[in-house]
Amino acid sequence: MSILVTKSTLPPFEEYIEEIKDIWQTHWLTNMGAKHDALQALLEEKLDSKHIVLYTNGHLALENIIAAFDFPNESEIITTPFTFASTTHAIVRNGLKPIFCDIDPVTLCLDPSKIEKLITPKTVAIVPVHVYGNVCDVEEIGRIADKHNLKVIYDAAHAFGEKYKNKAVPSFGDASMVSFHATKVFNTIEGGCAAFQDDSLVQILNDLKNFGIRGPEEVRYVGGNAKMNEFQAAMGICNMRHLDENIKKRLHVDSVYRELLSDVGGIQLKSVKKDVSSNGAYFPVLFNNYKKTRDEVFEQLAAEEIYARKYFYPVVQDFDCYKDIYDSNDTPVAKKAADNVLCLPMYPDLTNDEVRKICSIILR
Ligand SMILES: *Cc1c(COP(=O)(O)O)cnc(C)c1O
Repeated sequence: MSILVTKSTLPPFEEYIEEIKDIWQTHWLTNMGAKHDALQALLEEKLDSKHIVLYTNGHLALENIIAAFDFPNESEIITTPFTFASTTHAIVRNGLKPIFCDIDPVTLCLDPSKIEKLITPKTVAIVPVHVYGNVCDVEEIGRIADKHNLKVIYDAAHAFGEKYKNKAVPSFGDASMVSFHATKVFNTIEGGCAAFQDDSLVQILNDLKNFGIRGPEEVRYVGGNAKMNEFQAAMGICNMRHLDENIKKRLHVDSVYRELLSDVGGIQLKSVKKDVSSNGAYFPVLFNNYKKTRDEVFEQLAAEEIYARKYFYPVVQDFDCYKDIYDSNDTPVAKKAADNVLCLPMYPDLTNDEVRKICSIILR
């Protein structure tokens, strides 16, 4: 039997059927229905956020958050090149310019000590990513942003269910995007949200995700369509009931990996930060001067039907759509991480034996 890098979480079949039954009474399928509102309320509590605006996916939530601040065209946004395509694309698709800042070699998140020298009169915001659920240095990033009057918008796609100093990670910054994609710790099939405390953002985000429509006869913005439908919200309501148990199982898998792979020369494991209660989202391993390269390990695992993922690889500047504009050598730490990282299979039902098999192939 092959092992994939992840396996989407589903509630028991009957539980989902029960949850969607009343949709056949109301015939309300999308456009902010009862399921949407119920999930929104659950998430405001879960994410310690005064406001949650739900989206059909995380990417459009991020695009809309950036749009909501209405930055002047061609403004600069300092961000990380060690991320998924979504983060950078969300900036560029808003007509803004990403400025890549290198990352910390341990957390793989934006290195705050390298931010300030990239700030110019055109800089308007910082868009960091809580990579793999490793929490960014939110205090230092917040201090720099305050000093230079910049917005901080977190890509918290990996940070659902995670706390830092007893506060939900997506509650930091001016706003955060969280993804509820099928492969994430919590899913609504596809889905996502904006999480924030500022009252003035609520209406504009709700307008932007619905064609910019403010009222029956008023279209205020050039918005798109990014609403979460009732079947997605129902999946979220069900999956929320099993979230804690699933995170517990992920953390068990995490601990078995650590038992077998810590203290192996040349292998760097996912960092553990003080004051963070982790969601067990991913299990990335960096092969830095290991006896085998990352690609060799990847191939060997694949030969035995174990499909790990080079995530994130390549680094963003090396994408076809960016490589003529940027040079990945400007961020050597990020480039090296992308060349050496491998995310090992991680999901709640991965068994001890499967983890042992994966590790034995790596150590062989
Ligand atoms: C998954 C992901 C996204 C995009 O979320 P979707 O819900 O798939 O649109 C953005 N950023 C990062 C870092 C992600 O992992």
